[in-house]
Amino acid sequence: MATNRTFTMLKPDAIENGHIGKILDMINAAGFEIKAMKYTKLTTDQAQKFYEVHAERPFYGELVEYMTSGPIVAAILQKENAVADFRTLIGATDPADAAEGTIRKYYAESKGRNAVHGSDSDENAEIEGKFHFATNEIF
Ligand code: UDP
Ligand code: MG
Repeated sequence: MATNRTFTMLKPDAIENGHIGKILDMINAAGFEIKAMKYTKLTTDQAQKFYEVHAERPFYGELVEYMTSGPIVAAILQKENAVADFRTLIGATDPADAAEGTIRKYYAESKGRNAVHGSDSDENAEIEGKFHFATNEIF
């Protein structure tokens, strides 16, 4: 299961800017199936824990503040080679470096407010999916 699933969040800037539908369209068009989904808002505790790996980085405080500034859409996606293919679909962290046709190229505002999250490994995809969803919310 782990190898064909990834975890994503449509981040607060994407929701604020009205891009939920367009981003989900791109995700479906790229062949990902939605296996879990919720519209929710992270607490400060949740955002700190989710991005714990970045705790020592200078942008951590700002990142937590941004990720708790409004609602997000969290989802588990399935496709062969899901983690790598989704990273390709979202593009580089900084939209200035993101390839044409990627979600971040179209919809990210900046390196910080970059519209979408994608897990970076099968292991993290599983951890992140379980962080957001109970077993009976995953299909
Ligand atoms: N981030 C930031 N400044 C940076 C690097 C990252 O604000 O210099 C934020 C950005 O929202 C990014 C998140 O921290 O998506 C996690 O960083 P990571 O390096 O894991 O990038 P990603 O995997 O999201 O491309
Ligand atoms: Mg990352």
